Amino acid sequence: MLMNYLRKLMYGRYGSDQLSLFLLFFYVALVLLANLPFMGWLTWAALAVLLWDLYRMFSRRHDRRRAENARFLALFGPVIRWVKMRRTIHRDKEHCYFKCPSCGQYLRVPRGKGKITVSCRNCGASFEEKS
Ligand SMILES: [Zn+2]
Repeated sequence: MLMNYLRKLMYGRYGSDQLSLFLLFFYVALVLLANLPFMGWLTWAALAVLLWDLYRMFSRRHDRRRAENARFLALFGPVIRWVKMRRTIHRDKEHCYFKCPSCGQYLRVPRGKGKITVSCRNCGASFEEKS
């Protein structure tokens, strides 16, 4: 019953994307900051961010919302990729990660193999690393 209602409500709507997720986190950060002394005005800024996020999610103008998300990803995409790569490196205990000195591509090798020669798949450059 409730799921059916939600399905009907969201039919044809844009829904969520990376920008809407970012706006949600930004809203939570503003709400937390608004609890500090003399920062109560941030509650209104947080409300504006939340309303913008909801407007985007319920919008039927998919082309405009996709263009907004593309601009957001063009601006913050490198930061998002860097954070995801750091998380992957932190979680993966079985591999060592190197950055190719000539093209900057991340390369993964098994850990604990000693001194090895790494060949970059992207540009073909070879260099020695300790894994
Ligand atoms: Zn390379």
